[in-house]
Amino acid sequence: MSSSNLCESPGCNLPAKLQCPTCRQLGIQGSFFCSQECFKGNWKTHKIIHALAKGEAVDGKKENGYNPWPHYNFTGELRPFPQTPIRTVPDRIPRPDYADHPKGFPLSEQAVKGSSQIKILDDEEIEGMRVSCKLGREVLDEAARVCDVGVTTDEIDRIVHEACLERDCYPSPMNYYQFPASCCTSVNEVICHGIPDTRPLKDGDLCNVDITVYHNGFHGDLNETFFVGNVSEKHKNLVKVTHECLMKAIEMVKPGEKYREIGNVIQKHAQANGYSVVRSYCGHGIHRLFHTAPNVPHYAKNRAVGVMKPGHCFTIEPMISMGTWKDEMWPDKWTAVTADGQFSAQFEHTLLVTETGCDILTKRRNETGLPHFMDKM
Ligand SMILES: [Zn+2]
Ligand SMILES: [Zn+2]
Repeated sequence: MSSSNLCESPGCNLPAKLQCPTCRQLGIQGSFFCSQECFKGNWKTHKIIHALAKGEAVDGKKENGYNPWPHYNFTGELRPFPQTPIRTVPDRIPRPDYADHPKGFPLSEQAVKGSSQIKILDDEEIEGMRVSCKLGREVLDEAARVCDVGVTTDEIDRIVHEACLERDCYPSPMNYYQFPASCCTSVNEVICHGIPDTRPLKDGDLCNVDITVYHNGFHGDLNETFFVGNVSEKHKNLVKVTHECLMKAIEMVKPGEKYREIGNVIQKHAQANGYSVVRSYCGHGIHRLFHTAPNVPHYAKNRAVGVMKPGHCFTIEPMISMGTWKDEMWPDKWTAVTADGQFSAQFEHTLLVTETGCDILTKRRNETGLPHFMDKM
């Protein structure tokens, strides 16, 4: 990607490797220059985008004019806001391999990429997964407590980050393929992989928070969609049905079941309620690796490989949309949005296949075991 950047200085067009440090800090994409000379020569006009990013007045106009991608056609109403710098994890907390890779490559994952062989966890590894998933659940519960009108997703990310450190966990998303935050926050038409930023949550928003923690060598992964303030009945129903899709899929998990059957159950229930199933993102095997075999599509008639066996660990995480199943990506190369701008919801659990069925390792450990949005139904 960086090899194809051209100097931003008008008429220059030379290959450019110097990125404006202020833009980098503010999360503004691009802004490459070929030399200090071009950078300095353009400073007067270039610095205006810093002011816009920070919501400062430019030429007397007072509004948040932050738009890092002036040529991108947004599919819905949500807009990116400036991001804060990536947080740090103290050295005492063990880190996955990608944490220190310059491009965030998970080399241990890439080494087995393409293999459909599913690891069977031994007792010690199962105990490792139980602990990581329990800690991940505690972190998600902390996020649920703060998710409210006026709170920024960056503030949720800060709470998540601190909650991870308190539990001696590395926040798995951080630097995974260079993801710049400690969790994913996906609002409204964002399907998944939203980057926390400084946009305050608004009354009526849906906000999914996806947590993965890495503890003692194992990843635990879960997400829930939360209501922000007063949510419309139609969006409440989307969230309710999405959660039902996940729970119906979990009910069928047992030894001997084919991974490809999961999508049939999910799509049947989504479709019966007038919704569509996102096809580009799937559930995944998880243990010492963050994302590995099996691949678990959520749509019907898929060709997923594999049969469930005791000791398998994987996620189911259906993304269900109001309108089209089609997705596209923001120019940040992370944020997946619905192609028609309508809302999408998601729920995720990490599961362990047992002799008779499965254990929901990331289940909520209160009286009801129900997800947070049901506290507000
Ligand atoms: Zn997740
Ligand atoms: Zn996942």
